[in-house]
Amino acid sequence: MKSIFLEKIGGPLTVKESPEPEPGDEWVLVKIMRTGVCYRDILTVEGFFPRVSLPIVLGHEIAGIVVDKGSKVDEVDINDKIVALPYVPCGECEYCRSGRENLCKNRRWYGEVLNGSYADHVLVHKNSIVKMDPEVDWNYAAISSCVIGMVIHALEELGDINEGMKVLVTGAGGGVGIHALQIAKAYGAEVIAVTSSEDKVDFIKQVNPDYIFVSKGDFSKEVKKTIGPVDIVVEAVGEPTFYSSLRSLKWGGRMAVIGNVNVKPVSLPLGLIILRENIIHGVISSTKRSLKKALEMGSKGLVKAIGVEMPLWEVEKAHEILRQKRARGRVFLKP
Ligand SMILES: [Zn+2]
Ligand SMILES: [Zn+2]
Repeated sequence: MKSIFLEKIGGPLTVKESPEPEPGDEWVLVKIMRTGVCYRDILTVEGFFPRVSLPIVLGHEIAGIVVDKGSKVDEVDINDKIVALPYVPCGECEYCRSGRENLCKNRRWYGEVLNGSYADHVLVHKNSIVKMDPEVDWNYAAISSCVIGMVIHALEELGDINEGMKVLVTGAGGGVGIHALQIAKAYGAEVIAVTSSEDKVDFIKQVNPDYIFVSKGDFSKEVKKTIGPVDIVVEAVGEPTFYSSLRSLKWGGRMAVIGNVNVKPVSLPLGLIILRENIIHGVISSTKRSLKKALEMGSKGLVKAIGVEMPLWEVEKAHEILRQKRARGRVFLKP
């Protein structure tokens, strides 16, 4: 099989041939049909995650077909189409037992400590597998956990979203943003797209947000003047837009922090948060429940995967697109 390895922090990424692995008792060998490129992969290359065990095959957005399985795997059969959580939950800790396996104390990430999906085949543990409806397209499947399931986790499980709420999404033309707009709409929200690039406006229009704001500075005044303060912000950028996002919230409004594009700290105006009882919550990945819901939304056609397909072996090019913030939607890699 062919895989793309990160051998040292900073790269480059190298393609290597190796024999196909035999799955252990609880493991499944999956033929990768599609994998998504995630900003987390870039941060891994740059050494942001100290736990990464090198050399490692990058990639944690797994969608493919089961080609072999171990003796203790009953969840799936050969030829099943599957997706996987980006990590393997232990299934036993307090978080796993309460359906919050995204916080599993013993979770192991693909592309960080387990070889990942930048390959034509990958070994997947049964605890992370979810069988998918064959109708769901491969691009959607690839981002059903890390993007769609994560946003569902942010909006529904953490954000208490309800029909008619106002949901603002920053980085609206990016891989998380363009899908978050669709997901919020699927919940019946009024959606507000914020982007810093004028040239992404037409691209964003394809998902029909109720409002689009183009801003390189503080957008909160304009947002509040035009539509009033919002119930939920999906902060898909991070530090550059954080303050405006916070100021756009209504009393009791919540911010889901997903993006951390420049890994810079922000300063928190505590008075503002106290007086308005704002809730700021981090969001890490998806739960099994939100992943299943993502697949359901996909098979009903409520949300579509938007982005560009590239050959897996051009991954360096794909990473460059993300680094330069040129991505429109998600980049999908095809082995
Ligand atoms: Zn990801
Ligand atoms: Zn656990």
